[in-house]
Amino acid sequence: MIEKFNLTHLSTGDMLRAEIAQQSQLGIKAKEIMDKGELVSDEIVISMIEKRLTENGALFDGFPRTIAQAEALDNLLSQKGQKIDAVIYLKVAEEELLTRMLARGRADDNEETIKNRLIVYKNQTQPLIEFYQKQGKLKTIEGTGKTIEETTSKIFAAL
Ligand code: AMP
Repeated sequence: MIEKFNLTHLSTGDMLRAEIAQQSQLGIKAKEIMDKGELVSDEIVISMIEKRLTENGALFDGFPRTIAQAEALDNLLSQKGQKIDAVIYLKVAEEELLTRMLARGRADDNEETIKNRLIVYKNQTQPLIEFYQKQGKLKTIEGTGKTIEETTSKIFAAL
């Protein structure tokens, strides 16, 4: 998608992991939160995104994760005369998510943290589905039991 549409990849998780690697004050604070599977504050992630917005457009990855983040993003974009064109909702069964994350083996990919991330997802992130559906921007892609290639072509077809 980045190549095809000339986008900048903006992953808040990657940005936070870079802060952790640098052992910055923000990184030290964020690690504790991420290890528990909680969300870093809206203020922190919004300001990280704000600093990196470009003119060519972006693929937001792992952001927004709350309604407050989505509203802040809409405001930031409208100030630049930009907007969200589409939101890709990759629908994957919980069991499969667990298997995939455990295979990935990131620091926050242990069973306990994953369980909490799913609870946090349901409480704080799931409401975004309706938020973007109402705006007619949501593209739902079935992600369970598909190869990476099949899922990729489904995403392109939806866009
Ligand atoms: P990810 O790499 O997107 O799975 O994010 C890993 C962790 O970083 C999450 O479990 C959160 O603790 C934190 N994080 C990443 N993106 C956000 C965000 N948009 N808002 C709050 N916390 C975030």
